[in-house]
Amino acid sequence: MNKVLIIGAGGVGSVVAHKCAMLPDVFGEITLASRTLSKCDDIAASVKRRTGREIATAKVDADNSDETAALIRKTGSKLLINVALPYQDLNLMDACLKAGIDYMDTANYEPLDVAKFEYSWQWAYQEKFEKAGHSALLGSGFDPGVTNVFTAWALKHHFDEIHTLDIIDVNGGDHGHAFATNFNPEINIREVTAECRHYEQGEFVETAAMSEHRSFTCPQGVGNYEIYRMYHEELESLVKHIPTIKRAQFWMSFSPNYLKHLEVLQNVGMTRIDEVEYQGQKIVPLQFLKAVLPNPGDLGETTKGRTCIGNVITGVKDGKPKAIYIYNICDHEKCFEEVGSQAISYTTGVPTMIGAKQMLTGGWDRPGVWNIEQNDPDAFMADLNEHGLPWQVIELSHEDAAAFRVV
Ligand code: NDP
Repeated sequence: MNKVLIIGAGGVGSVVAHKCAMLPDVFGEITLASRTLSKCDDIAASVKRRTGREIATAKVDADNSDETAALIRKTGSKLLINVALPYQDLNLMDACLKAGIDYMDTANYEPLDVAKFEYSWQWAYQEKFEKAGHSALLGSGFDPGVTNVFTAWALKHHFDEIHTLDIIDVNGGDHGHAFATNFNPEINIREVTAECRHYEQGEFVETAAMSEHRSFTCPQGVGNYEIYRMYHEELESLVKHIPTIKRAQFWMSFSPNYLKHLEVLQNVGMTRIDEVEYQGQKIVPLQFLKAVLPNPGDLGETTKGRTCIGNVITGVKDGKPKAIYIYNICDHEKCFEEVGSQAISYTTGVPTMIGAKQMLTGGWDRPGVWNIEQNDPDAFMADLNEHGLPWQVIELSHEDAAAFRVV
């Protein structure tokens, strides 16, 4: 019987717990552990109500690898699913090595005091995992995650060579708040205020944050949105593992309202990640801001609209130019109905469950550290259709692909 330990009881952790509980043949025993036990208990109660299954809960400090290793041993887990924060990645990888089990996550490591995310720290564990005979799967959310698998699947079935990749992440949802982030506010704001980096002709090129934008019309009436180019971690692994890529970019939609609030918060210093002295106490403004913003895990009840995330890919097949758009559309209200969460947590948590299923039963547990696109994509793609994230693929002319015209 496969036993798994989920770490992190936020918006994503809740979806992962619910979706794993729906597959008792794959996930025989589930423990959900996090810093705040009451959050785990609330999720466990919802899992029981919605699926009839009991899951165990525990309190753990994921920054402490000995404490986490002890919990792994106590639960007898075979796989640790990390949906805490990127700051915990290395400690949780250490805990898995200490206890001798497999690891997976949805976001690459970030040091707490520098807004910098890259895979080098986690790739450095390759030899340790290989020697220990254990596996680490990196980036099994939507982006990174599904967007990487879309690319690997496109390469396997549609292209001999991929030349350009544009990942377009649109959230056409409205949560009804003046300002809120759809996932952990600290991680979200660090990500969107970082310098933009995109890949062009063999190197990453830096440009000012939010300086490049264009208009994008989503299929199936999701709407027209302004999308902004920004850096996203999957660009780093995808250009490494698919070296024919000449240009790779990531785009995300932001409403004028979101950008206005973000600009003001930045201007007044509320997005700073260094400590400031306040009434004899040291506080980090961005962490304080997180404490006063709406909890992304609670946005489900009010969020309406749909997300549309996909890749425009160009390249060659049989010597001829080819272009496709592959995408998923996800409805916030339907996600809430199914698992009590909005679509951002849902589109992250479902692929996390599917990645875990592949690790446990699909042969994705080869020793070493792997980005998700290094695995065969077919079973994962089939599971997306089966477990709530159906996808579509359409062929584009090169002119339409260049203009991001997909409808
Ligand atoms: P939340 O902030 O809602 O949840 C994070 C959880 O981790 C909280 O329950 C928190 O505990 C817990 N946690 C934090 N620090 C520790 C610690 N030291 N020990 C134990 N538990 C800890 O975040 P989200 O659910 O929105 O996001 C979870 C992860 O998913 C993040 O890494 C995020 O970057 C990633 N993500 C990935 C996406 C993708 O598509 N690949 C998209 C969206 C998110 P407490 O409740 O006590 O604060």
